[in-house]
Amino acid sequence: MRISMIGTGYVGLVSGTCFSEFGVDVICVDKDAAKIERLRQGEIPIYEPGLEALVSSNVAAGRLSFTTDLADAVAQSQAVFIAVGTPSRRGDGHADLSFVYAAAREIARAMTGYTVVVTKSTVPVGTGRAVARIIREERPDADFDVVSNPEFLREGSAIQDFMRPDRVVIGTDSPRAQAVMRQLYRVLYLIETPILFTTLESSEMIKYAANTFLATKITFINEIADLCEHTGADVHDVARGIGLDGRIGRKFLHPGPGYGGSCFPKDTLALVTTAQEAGSPLRIVETVVDINARRKRAMADRIIAACDGTVADKTVAILGLTFKPNTDDMRDAPSLDIVPALVEAGATVRAFDPEGMGEARPLLPDITYCDDAYDAMTGADAVVILTEWNEFRALNIARMKEALAAPVMIDLRNVYTPADMVAAGFRYVSVGRPTPA
Ligand code: NAD
Repeated sequence: MRISMIGTGYVGLVSGTCFSEFGVDVICVDKDAAKIERLRQGEIPIYEPGLEALVSSNVAAGRLSFTTDLADAVAQSQAVFIAVGTPSRRGDGHADLSFVYAAAREIARAMTGYTVVVTKSTVPVGTGRAVARIIREERPDADFDVVSNPEFLREGSAIQDFMRPDRVVIGTDSPRAQAVMRQLYRVLYLIETPILFTTLESSEMIKYAANTFLATKITFINEIADLCEHTGADVHDVARGIGLDGRIGRKFLHPGPGYGGSCFPKDTLALVTTAQEAGSPLRIVETVVDINARRKRAMADRIIAACDGTVADKTVAILGLTFKPNTDDMRDAPSLDIVPALVEAGATVRAFDPEGMGEARPLLPDITYCDDAYDAMTGADAVVILTEWNEFRALNIARMKEALAAPVMIDLRNVYTPADMVAAGFRYVSVGRPTPA
């Protein structure tokens, strides 16, 4: 079977490569010619662990190729996946579907023979039907079905997530399209991955409901962390104590500076908009969105408070800029709210991120980018752990104290143990845990 993947970003490149690893012939398409050129040279335009080796072995095996020529790719394909971006539309928070609809039009013009058009992008309920309408308008003669197949992979562990998913969701009412999708996911079928066949609408809703539930879970534990600070409880014990209850589950109960990244912020907003438009508002999710936005700003205040109430004319070292470790993705990272607030308050910021500085530079131009964690801490009045990269988990305390002008750490990911840091002579502030005097 041959498929095309339209959009070669975090999702399209990983999904396309993994399908080729499953033995499918995959043509990855992007309109960004520079990206396609780099991929043809064997260069991976994003940071995703393990991806480079998987791309190169599948290219060598002749199952994976890259092109800007959408029409040529689509004409050869039995299934065409749309994996383009669906960012927040400016102003109203609705998902911007212009890339999806543009791709649908181009696909319609190029299809030959029966083609399954699959939305892999995260798209609001109703989009699949709209895509089918567009294709029909453009090509009344076309023989096709539209399927929703949302992607649940996480950046940083994307390959493992695609190859060993908790489930695959496939939304279509066409048995013919179902058979094509079943064939594509045959490898996962064999290892007994649950494959949920449902309608287009339910499938589209599942993706948003999943992401908003997870964002809600994070926000819940963040608020519990705040309450722990006021009551002397330790949020880690509380998270473990509730998470061991199988009905609650242990994952996504780690407090921090607020969720960010390329999905949760835009998907929560988009679902809020969908719900309002449908006359069935989601008040819990509306509140989650509001709490999370305030939380990021509150984290800057927490840093300032730890610096004796002012960062004017002080230097703050920031370790980690990406929204989570093992990615270079800066989209909606908490650092984009926290760092400018510190600069605004008069701080000089020295930052280091292992993979994110290339993406960060244009977004955070007013700071100094450093060579490593210790370089960032040199002469700083405080150090903030903003992203829990492994290399920040075991910093050399003696070297830190030598580099810093003052031993102050604001650990927004709770990487260190309060008692240890206090014993080492630090003023230590974390999230939701009591610090011994
Ligand atoms: P991305 O911005 O990294 O990649 C999108 C790519 O599509 C870009 O390279 C762009 O040039 C290309 N593109 C846009 N229009 C095109 C067209 N007409 N023809 C060819 N290429 C085109 O986006 P992403 O992070 O991969 O996300 C894609 C979708 O997957 C979004 O809907 C997102 O919500 C969803 N998703 C993302 C993740 C994630 O972790 N990033 C996880 C699950 C789902």
